[in-house]
Amino acid sequence: MLKVYNTMTRRKEEFKPLKEGEVSIYCCGVTPYNHPHIGNARPFVTWDVIRRYFAKKGYKVHYIQNFTDVDDKIINAANKEGVTWKDISDRYIKAYFEAMDALNVRHADVYPRVSETMPEIIAMVEKLIAKGYAYVVDNGDVYYSVEKFSHYGKLSGRSLDDMQAGARIEVNTAKHHPMDFALWKAAKPGEPSWDSPWGKGRPGWHIECSTMSLKYLGEKFDFHGGGSDLIFPHHENEIAQSQACIGDDHSFAQYWLHNGFITIHNEKMSKSKNNFFTVK
Ligand SMILES: [Zn+2]
Repeated sequence: MLKVYNTMTRRKEEFKPLKEGEVSIYCCGVTPYNHPHIGNARPFVTWDVIRRYFAKKGYKVHYIQNFTDVDDKIINAANKEGVTWKDISDRYIKAYFEAMDALNVRHADVYPRVSETMPEIIAMVEKLIAKGYAYVVDNGDVYYSVEKFSHYGKLSGRSLDDMQAGARIEVNTAKHHPMDFALWKAAKPGEPSWDSPWGKGRPGWHIECSTMSLKYLGEKFDFHGGGSDLIFPHHENEIAQSQACIGDDHSFAQYWLHNGFITIHNEKMSKSKNNFFTVK
């Protein structure tokens, strides 16, 4: 018997695959804008161990990991260097593979990119609007309405009231609720943008993983993973999007597994704290 610690239930549970002899895994990947440090590499090393264990046990493993190749950090890096967002993301996707190959991490079955998943992302946002879970504001932004999803907060164990109490007071916002999050962001001058029913723009961060897991693993899959810093808001928002879109509270990931951080002098290793070692 294999037991896993499920963040959703906060206990160890016996793993029962959805499909006998198979295991499906979605792990949130990187935003390629710099050379990965060893803290960035940790989730992928962790999942490499888990998937190799399943393979050794005779399971057929399906493993999907995305690249967030359209993002503020990439756009900022491109503007700084005077190159395109694509130059930056291509360069650091290559750096990611060099680092992972050096660590002997097996490749995923598919590495979907945001820029290559636009039609599916737009279709999912349209569906969320049609079902009443999302709304368009005057400038062309689209937001998810957290109050419409009655289970919002179930992964992180927080109520909407607790979140609201801790939320920053935003001025001049068109959001209905402070915790509402962007599904689609209207284009700003000089940013990459794509055509949509709401005008030119680009997706918010969370929608890509809902779209990509649905596209490659279907409405239900076994594991969703990532660092524990992703539990809130990223994974909470993925659940809200996917389950609302599919219309089933038991759809999407069946087990949520999160890895801890690499710490250095009792602090999380991170680029912003400048306390990191690159894999290189
Ligand atoms: Zn994700």
